[in-house]
Amino acid sequence: MKSHARVVVIGGGVVGCSVLYHLTKFGWTDVVLVERSELTSGSTWHAAGGMHTINGDPNVAKLQKYTVELYKEIEDYSGQDIGLHMTSGMMLAATKERFDWMKSILAKGRYMGLEAELLTPKEAHDLMPLIDPDQFVGAVFDPVEGHLDPYGTTHAYAKSAKKNGAEIYLHTKVEDLAQREDGSWRVITNKGEIIAEHVVNCGGLWAREVGRMVGLELPVLAMEHMYLITEDMPEVIEFNRTAGRELMHCVDFDGEIYLRQERNGMLMGTYEKACRPWSPLNTPWDFGHELLEEDIERITPELEVGFRHFPAFNKAGIKKIINGPFTFSPDGNPLVGPVRGMTNFWSACAVMAGFSQGGGVGLALANWMIHGDPGFDVFAMDVARYGDFATLGYTNAKVRENYSRRFSIRYPNEELPAGRPLLTTPIYDRLKAAGAVFGASYGLEQPLWFAPAGVEDHFSWRRSTDFETVGAEARAVREGVGLMETSGFAKYAVKGRGAEAFLDRLLACRMPATGRMTLAPMLKADGKLIGDFTLAKLGEGDFLLIGSGIAEDYHMRWFEAHLPKDGSVTLEALNLGLVGLAIAGPNAREVLRKLTHQDLSTAAFPFMAVRRMDLGMAPAIVGRVSYTGDLGYEIWMKPQYQRYLYDLILEAGEEFGIRLFGLRALNALRLEKSYGSWSREYRPLYGPLEARLDRFVALDKAADFIGKAAAGLERENGGTLRLCTFILEAKDADVIGDEPIYLDGVVRGWVTSGGYAHAAGVSVAVGYVPKDIADVTGDWSVELLGEMLPARLQREPLFDPTGATMRK
Ligand SMILES: Cc1cc2nc3c(=O)[nH]c(=O)nc-3n(C[C@H](O)[C@H](O)[C@H](O)COP(=O)(O)OP(=O)(O)OC[C@H]3O[C@@H](n4cnc5c(N)ncnc54)[C@H](O)[C@@H]3O)c2cc1C
Repeated sequence: MKSHARVVVIGGGVVGCSVLYHLTKFGWTDVVLVERSELTSGSTWHAAGGMHTINGDPNVAKLQKYTVELYKEIEDYSGQDIGLHMTSGMMLAATKERFDWMKSILAKGRYMGLEAELLTPKEAHDLMPLIDPDQFVGAVFDPVEGHLDPYGTTHAYAKSAKKNGAEIYLHTKVEDLAQREDGSWRVITNKGEIIAEHVVNCGGLWAREVGRMVGLELPVLAMEHMYLITEDMPEVIEFNRTAGRELMHCVDFDGEIYLRQERNGMLMGTYEKACRPWSPLNTPWDFGHELLEEDIERITPELEVGFRHFPAFNKAGIKKIINGPFTFSPDGNPLVGPVRGMTNFWSACAVMAGFSQGGGVGLALANWMIHGDPGFDVFAMDVARYGDFATLGYTNAKVRENYSRRFSIRYPNEELPAGRPLLTTPIYDRLKAAGAVFGASYGLEQPLWFAPAGVEDHFSWRRSTDFETVGAEARAVREGVGLMETSGFAKYAVKGRGAEAFLDRLLACRMPATGRMTLAPMLKADGKLIGDFTLAKLGEGDFLLIGSGIAEDYHMRWFEAHLPKDGSVTLEALNLGLVGLAIAGPNAREVLRKLTHQDLSTAAFPFMAVRRMDLGMAPAIVGRVSYTGDLGYEIWMKPQYQRYLYDLILEAGEEFGIRLFGLRALNALRLEKSYGSWSREYRPLYGPLEARLDRFVALDKAADFIGKAAAGLERENGGTLRLCTFILEAKDADVIGDEPIYLDGVVRGWVTSGGYAHAAGVSVAVGYVPKDIADVTGDWSVELLGEMLPARLQREPLFDPTGATMRK
């Protein structure tokens, strides 16, 4: 065994072997993998081996496509047979709602070049005769689907890595990890110690335990999962004989089951509602090549539907039932990337679909380790998307919910209930009493809208029960004044003698003067956006940075990685240590005037000014800015003052008819200004010019900010994309994001977000198209729920195009 290695990968499942292979493929060959038993001896060996490219998140789908396309390469390179069966597959819909959902998945696939197509039940039956066509309303055919041998595939990765110079130590268990002063790791195994520059946690079923070795509680939990294999079925044998091919994969969403051919019979698995976590507290180290006890009763309700939808199963004998554990994160996506606060400790775990995603995870992680960047937009699987709210208990609740809903529809207006409420602000009960319907984001309950008594969200793809009320909230802001809670934003205090220089290098904007705010894009070295903030300078060496709530840990990881080591800067994510309220609308100033003796005139307190001021008896930070695009103020306070200020503002606003509004009205309002938002319009895929944030990039400032050279290049060559706003001729549904944009009948771009702009009375879509067509007055359309909606380019903001109102 080596005593030193550049990288130690812990775990020889499909994920660890893929990471190892990709590291060697990109040139890091001083790498080893340690496996406590044999390769595949975690969850990998008993997997059903199914894989496909379709995923609700287009960025994850891209990596799945890569994974599937990689198989031929590793088979050829390693000489190891991986038992690849590219059978193709279909997703079946038994209800109209389900079919609507499938159409939206199909539409997403269109701008990514996925070649799926819609099928009628008859066409589906012709392709897959085990289906009872009367049980379905339609299907989606996916040509790129199949299954493989998990053992062969894992060994093909491993052999390829070894061919490139990697070493693999079997029966070598990592028992502890300790970081040395120089940042390198002591990997303490039962066979001795290895000093490694980097450690990768690919511990699969034991990833949580490996995390605990370094004091981490990773949000990952194993669930029991069952599938059955039938005896030979005459229908299968007959189909193979006459068609000359295998039966294709099927996912029957309404039956909550998946199936594929296994030799001369079939394999049927289910994500049952009565699901069961496995080893919720500690995974036993002596768990080996074992299966869990089968429990057919638990999956009987799903099997009954399956047998009805696929009648041939009624006559088939069951040869075997497999029950094995595998891991999930709270949202079902992997946990990949560098762990915040640790040097060179990497995560690649919670991969619930190792054969669809393992290649992509290995690729992204190897890129990240070698080049400092994953090379893709991997936020959906970034380990940093969870903060400290994702405890063991939270993970348990969310994973069980996620597992049991694996094949359920999630409507765009549907908020899932498990693990809630967890984080609340001091005014939670007051908002609730006022009718707030909450959504949870980054663990925090946030008002989406304020429902009249007796009305609640009806989940739908189309406009729903909230439509009129959200419209009234939005109009109340435009016509009078509205109050909303803004505590869900991330807030960072950056202080110290080095704070200004640190931010000047980190952010692409010009630094504001004391008492001023600015919009502040943050770029990566390649010039793409890695954040967008509002930066407020409260005093010398005293800054407040406001950004996206869901990206708090993600951004903290980036900030900390660039923090000077001389102690000249202190940086703190304030989380709920600072909470917020915002008022907006033409009467906002009049409301605020009643709470302070300070001069709020435009001359004294203009647009983008920021100041500490007392409101009533409470100290606050007030900024003259509003994401609604109206005259407005963001007010930040310590949580102990929030109830007082909330009451005070409502009382002061009473004479102006102040109305509470939620995030849905805010979305409607910001669309009228074509304001983008993080994780939608602003992502690491886009440059600032493409995202129309270029005016906030100060190429002429002295500081050599991160991404400056690349941003300069983008300004010279114009980048490739442009963010555009469209007005749609929508009927009863509005876009949510990821719908394809067509010009003259050809897919040219994708929607990033949208909705109904209530005050303007139009349906809006925001999205990216190639820059050379971004100004074309052509035949634009957007595909929504299987319909082509005529679209018109909206070249200037619908509301206050000159910005005069917000500056008034
Ligand atoms: C019944 C069933 C059916 C499935 N069907 C499919 C399917 O059809 N398609 C699909 O894509 N996925 C499927 N899966 C999921 C798939 O198995 C997982 O996504 C995959 O196995 C995850 O691989 P991994 O490498 O992350 O974890 P694991 O396979 O659990 O590997 C982790 C490895 O790390 C080793 N290890 C852990 N801790 C240490 C330590 N301290 N020191 C040394 N070694 C250590 C373990 O021994 C183990 O070998 C299925 C799973 C089950 C249970």
